[in-house]
Amino acid sequence: MTHSILIKNATIIDGTGAPWYKADIAITDDKITGIGKISENADKIIDARGSIVSPGWIDVHNHADHTILGNPEALSYVHQGVTTVTMGNCGLSMYPLSEEHRSDLIEYMKPFTAGIPFKYDWTNLEEFNQRVSEIGTSINLVPFVGHGSIRIATMGFDNRAPTDSELQQMKKYLEESMKQGGYGMSTGLGYPPGLYSDNSELIALSEVLREYSGMYSTHMRGEDGNLADTINLGRAMKVPVEVSHLGSSCGSRMNLRGRHEQTTLKELDDARKEGIDITADIYPYIAGSSLLSQVIPDWLHEGGVQRMLERIQEPEVQARMAEEYEELGRDFSKIIVSYVKSTGNKDIEGMNIAAIAEKWEKNIVDTVCKLMTDEKGEAMNITFWGTEEDVNTMIKHPAVMPCSDGWILAPTGPLGAGKPHPRCYGAFPRYIDQYVKQKHLFGLEEAIRRMTSMPATRLGLQDRGIIREGMKADITVFNPETIKDTATFSNPHNYPTGIDYVIINGKPTVEQERHTGALAGEIL
Ligand SMILES: [Zn+2]
Repeated sequence: MTHSILIKNATIIDGTGAPWYKADIAITDDKITGIGKISENADKIIDARGSIVSPGWIDVHNHADHTILGNPEALSYVHQGVTTVTMGNCGLSMYPLSEEHRSDLIEYMKPFTAGIPFKYDWTNLEEFNQRVSEIGTSINLVPFVGHGSIRIATMGFDNRAPTDSELQQMKKYLEESMKQGGYGMSTGLGYPPGLYSDNSELIALSEVLREYSGMYSTHMRGEDGNLADTINLGRAMKVPVEVSHLGSSCGSRMNLRGRHEQTTLKELDDARKEGIDITADIYPYIAGSSLLSQVIPDWLHEGGVQRMLERIQEPEVQARMAEEYEELGRDFSKIIVSYVKSTGNKDIEGMNIAAIAEKWEKNIVDTVCKLMTDEKGEAMNITFWGTEEDVNTMIKHPAVMPCSDGWILAPTGPLGAGKPHPRCYGAFPRYIDQYVKQKHLFGLEEAIRRMTSMPATRLGLQDRGIIREGMKADITVFNPETIKDTATFSNPHNYPTGIDYVIINGKPTVEQERHTGALAGEIL
């Protein structure tokens, strides 16, 4: 039985960057089947007068695999107007899992999964996808496989280069993931185990990416020269390169503050002129979020979470941590504890580590070690890295798309815990509100292009990202006057305003800001 929807009186921004125009849109089943003056009837009529009708928004950098099995409705994303998200980013995907090292990955991922007791009854991408399909998903998913997860499955948290046979095993995991529908490999080179790898390992793995037309999506190395390093990798790998969350990666380089036009963006432009296929994404905030264990020095992560928790009890280790913090001049007032697992520490969620140290009457190292020990590593941070000016400079660049870098959350249940990064609820409406409506950095058509056809083209999604006959009916209808993120750092679990309708694969999924319960998403 077919199902039809007619969107009447639409002001269409089609996603190509072309100016808006007015027409009706007919949807039959999961496709757009007509655009123009349409008089036939339909099972459902949506009057879009006063609203903008856009292709559904596509988040090119997301950690959906961490929580989608706990929230198939994908609440915090479909309420933003997002219809497709990537998963498996920053080197850490929920797959593959090896017999030998499965607990290493599961322990490490716990803070990301908000303590939801997943069964982990899969070993690879295909089986993970089966679990998702069994329970359903509201949102479309584009899988990447994490280099860190491949490395953990092969050699745990060993801080060394892989042996030849281990490298072959890593290639096998990557090849298996690509055959099972992977779009590419992501890296997280700023933290373990990604930071234990060198470029020769990554270049060796890129052979598989080339063979399967995969993309290299990278959370770059943390120190100076990281973009240059990525460009060198792109030159050697000869695959499309996506620089993940450009802001936090480059914005945190204090010596570049205020000079990203002449440095970061010039490097990017020069590489593109040279013919390297490189683009970047950025989230519209001056703070990032990850595991709280990132504040623990890198060398302490060798051997995995349990080993780290044991070692930080040793006085000599603590002394060395203190020295390192001193040397790096780490500002703990800029690092907020956004989530803790234990009930005993809930009162410090939302507080920065310097303030927690004061409250607990401890020094920084003792505070960090107590946090890690109390929570057994299951805690998250939000770190303020940048300035609005730097974000404005980078976000304006035409090769830079918006992303959220967030997790699928929900206002209630385990995914409603703590004070997570507001990007999980507001990144896309904020992109329009802040940079089009308030700062006028680009027009609405250009913003929509970067939220739709640009990521679709980048990912190779040929039937999404543009409103055109024959394309899949992923559509976001929003009110240009009232669209606004309402999630803040102190009060993050809030849906944005102004999202009227979200249609995913032809099924109304959000209507007048309410989720319909539809689970029409697909693994693409
Ligand atoms: Zn990252």
